[in-house]
Amino acid sequence: NPSLAISGLTKKFGASTVLDGVDLVVGRGRVHALIGQNGAGKSTLVKTLAGLYPDYSGDIQVDGRDVTMRNPRQARRDGVAVIHQEFSLVSTLTVAENLLLGREGAGWRYDGARLVEDAADLVRRVGITLGAELTAPTEGLSPAVHQRMEIVKALAENAKVLVMDEPTARLSEAERVALFDLVRDLAAREVGIVFISHYLDEVREICDEVTVMRNGTVVATQPARSSTVSELATLMLGEELAHDLQ
Ligand code: ADP
Ligand code: MG
Ligand code: MG
Repeated sequence: NPSLAISGLTKKFGASTVLDGVDLVVGRGRVHALIGQNGAGKSTLVKTLAGLYPDYSGDIQVDGRDVTMRNPRQARRDGVAVIHQEFSLVSTLTVAENLLLGREGAGWRYDGARLVEDAADLVRRVGITLGAELTAPTEGLSPAVHQRMEIVKALAENAKVLVMDEPTARLSEAERVALFDLVRDLAAREVGIVFISHYLDEVREICDEVTVMRNGTVVATQPARSSTVSELATLMLGEELAHDLQ
């Protein structure tokens, strides 16, 4: 089974159809780029997968199972974790508290030592270096560390699909390299990854497949590494506009 199979996904805002019959299949352990100009519908697709737009139509399967994205909690339970550009961590909580947030039994019932121990267990189980002390406040941590925390949390919750919305936008070069190592590691664990980016070189470097969206529809899905930057740019813009820009 693929990690994610979307077919005929349609989402309207009032009279305007923002996603119009989108098909997208992400194989297990595949890194699948989603590209398109501003307004193409990428974020709307991501938010639908995250359970934020329950009034969509179309079919979504995660790991071969039919799922309906009714709300964020349920979308996560059904195996889709979205790493948004705006991080969802609570800045006044510690790293450990953030990692355990939302679990059964977490929160007021925990005493501090037990909480740090459980968070350490979780990090060990997932096997990803966080780059932050568990007892540190989340406030002031770098975007890169925030991102790693969210990924650790997603894996601990057994995510089958990880959706990353412009994950490198706020990273330094060294952090970007570290993220790509992590992405390869996740793929080796058979997590399917949807990788949204405006950087076409980056897409060709890290992704296996690329899907190009324009005006709410998919205009192409093809291997990423053998696609050229100009080919992808033309697909994003459409022949006419691409020609005008040359
Ligand atoms: P992208 O992420 O590819 O830039 P978006 O999904 O953000 O594209 O937007 C796709 C289209 O949907 C745009 O025309 C945008 O104006 C419209 N849109 C996005 N969110 C809403 C909303 N909440 N209400 C109405 N229109 C929206
Ligand atoms: Mg946008
Ligand atoms: Mg967007």
